[in-house]
Amino acid sequence: MKILVINAGSSSLKYQLLDMTSKDDLASGIVERIGEDMGTMTYKTDGKEVFEKPFPTHKEAMVEVINILTDADKGVVKDKAEIAAIGHRVVHGGETFTEPAEVDAKVIEGIKANIPLAPLHNPGNLTGIETAMELFPGVRQVAVFDTAFHQTMEPKVFTYGIPYEMYEKFGIRRYGFHGTSHKFVARETAKLLGKPLEECNIVTVHLGNGGSLAAVKNGKCYDTSMGMTPLAGIIMGTRCGDIDPAIVGVLAEKLGTDVAGVEKVLTNDSGLKGICGSNDLRDIHARIEEGDKQAELALDMACHKVRQFIGSYCFELGKVDCIVFTAGIGENDPEYRARTLSGLESFGISVNNDKNWNWDRTPSFISDDDSAVKVAIIATNEELEIANDTVAVLGL
Ligand code: AMP
Repeated sequence: MKILVINAGSSSLKYQLLDMTSKDDLASGIVERIGEDMGTMTYKTDGKEVFEKPFPTHKEAMVEVINILTDADKGVVKDKAEIAAIGHRVVHGGETFTEPAEVDAKVIEGIKANIPLAPLHNPGNLTGIETAMELFPGVRQVAVFDTAFHQTMEPKVFTYGIPYEMYEKFGIRRYGFHGTSHKFVARETAKLLGKPLEECNIVTVHLGNGGSLAAVKNGKCYDTSMGMTPLAGIIMGTRCGDIDPAIVGVLAEKLGTDVAGVEKVLTNDSGLKGICGSNDLRDIHARIEEGDKQAELALDMACHKVRQFIGSYCFELGKVDCIVFTAGIGENDPEYRARTLSGLESFGISVNNDKNWNWDRTPSFISDDDSAVKVAIIATNEELEIANDTVAVLGL
């Protein structure tokens, strides 16, 4: 059975076709700069292929994806009818969606109703769904929400200390994101621990260009570092993470801009990039090697913040079975992992130097055998999780 996973942004369309028997990635790619004069299609066949052409709307982009998937020479399916179902990533499900949902008129209305909570993301996700419905008539579609896994948080955890009617009227509260990744990694960690997920307390540490942590209590999300938007929490590639909210007003005044202008600074020019000019850890490490103090500060700050969150989540959970790292930085940066968890032996957290520096890319522990709290690395696979959810929701 083949499942197509779609992640549509406002000007991009990412796809992956998965074989659900082998769990193999059969084909994947991304169309970028949809709606601009010239767009780019990047996709994988034997190697990486890239070509440019205009994609006026998501429809032209998706037609191109279908053409590539069904190409007589290099395609992986003979006919698009081989695709059993389509799973869509949707960023914000608000309080409406606590689970993935099969797309119907009501679900589309629900995604639309949550646009005010994610004005930059949900409209693109919706366009992806509507385009897929048009081009794959009769194929069942499932929406998988980034926020859904976190809907088990209690009011004391998700409510902000602002007038309560702001929550009641506008839905302002913590929602959390990367839920698909946190859920996938938590479940894989439980397998590694050899216990049912419902009996596991886990701190999931998703560190990519964007990043967030979740405290998972008895298999369910108890707390997470992102907030109403993905701007909150740890210091990310270009996003500031948690800051004093009064800074927004101060910056608007100092920069002579409006709130939207400040938000742009906090979203695109902050985080690691804002501190040292680079948001890629590979560059940052190379610069630290050369004695670059600003790069050192950026790495120090980022690790400090992640360490703070891990510490607070360990206290919130009381007892922790495992701290698990995932995503671009979490999987690839032993130095980052070592810094965030160094010197915590008295709390029962003991990272094994050898295992940390020589992780073999299989889901495994990198802690010492006698570490009371295990530490693991598990590569995340959000596309596979969306495909799994799609199969589960449709009962295929
Ligand atoms: P993601 O958003 O999960 O794709 O993660 C992307 C980020 O992972 C990049 O911005 C880098 O900072 C980081 N990254 C990727 N590869 C490496 C590597 N080999 N070593 C350190 N960091 C890496």
